[in-house]
Amino acid sequence: MVIVKSPKQMQAAADEAKRAGKSIAFVPTMGALHEGHLRLFDEGKRRGDILVASVFVNPSQFGPNEDFSKYPRDIESDAEKARLRGADIVFAPAPSDIYPEGFETWVEVGEMAQRLCGIFRPGHFRGVATVALKLFNIVKPNVAIFGEKDYQQLKIIERMARDFNLDIEIVGFPIVREEGGIAMSSRNKYLSAEDRARALAIPAALNHINAKFAGGETNAETLTQAARAILLGSGIDSIDYIEICSPDTLRKREIAEPGDVVALAARVGATRLLDNIKL
Ligand code: AMP
Repeated sequence: MVIVKSPKQMQAAADEAKRAGKSIAFVPTMGALHEGHLRLFDEGKRRGDILVASVFVNPSQFGPNEDFSKYPRDIESDAEKARLRGADIVFAPAPSDIYPEGFETWVEVGEMAQRLCGIFRPGHFRGVATVALKLFNIVKPNVAIFGEKDYQQLKIIERMARDFNLDIEIVGFPIVREEGGIAMSSRNKYLSAEDRARALAIPAALNHINAKFAGGETNAETLTQAARAILLGSGIDSIDYIEICSPDTLRKREIAEPGDVVALAARVGATRLLDNIKL
């Protein structure tokens, strides 16, 4: 496995792989790799001849009061995990390689980016879509794997791929959970033992909605109110949103339908956690 830092070198490595008739599978990450990321690597290995993982904490997707500077970074440990899990190339550029002096061109994301996290993190998805497009142009993948944990991100990338005619298959991978049910996340590192215990209410609230829906309740407000009560009753500090939405457009539903996504963002202590479940 090699670590590549320069975009030019990464493009050259991609060209070489293509000349040798090999397909490229790509998993973009911000590092602090955990089993959730590594399962995406496994999927990438199934779908391509060469697995490229990127590790890049993208400054343009963080707001001014967010955790960019304290986001966990450990490239040595990440590279070792990636190597053990079969990655061929880890692409780990510096911010100045991706956003050099004079950078000024951005992907303009649409309505889907205005919902859910878009309300609480203005500019976030513009940064996500822009860096994803840049990474696609550098890594030149045939297929790129994204986690359903960041469901809105996955849908925005799928839409960008379609809208911009990207010749890349975008694949969504199911949420990988810790024992107990919390969705794995690099930000779980911020949780104290006590926070972690409270965070268990998040999967519990989502499962509660699914159980009520299976029992015949389809009123979205009734379903989400019950989940709110579970979250706040368990000491979750605040709920950014809990919404039942169309799985394709992310528009809010009044009457829930099978296959809808229940999307949630909540704060436990200072940590913002995302989760979702399909009805
Ligand atoms: P991040 O490093 O948080 O930007 O995540 C990189 C990729 O891994 C994204 O496509 C995430 O959706 C995905 N991912 C992160 N955590 C999980 C998880 N628990 N299950 C599945 N995919 C995940």
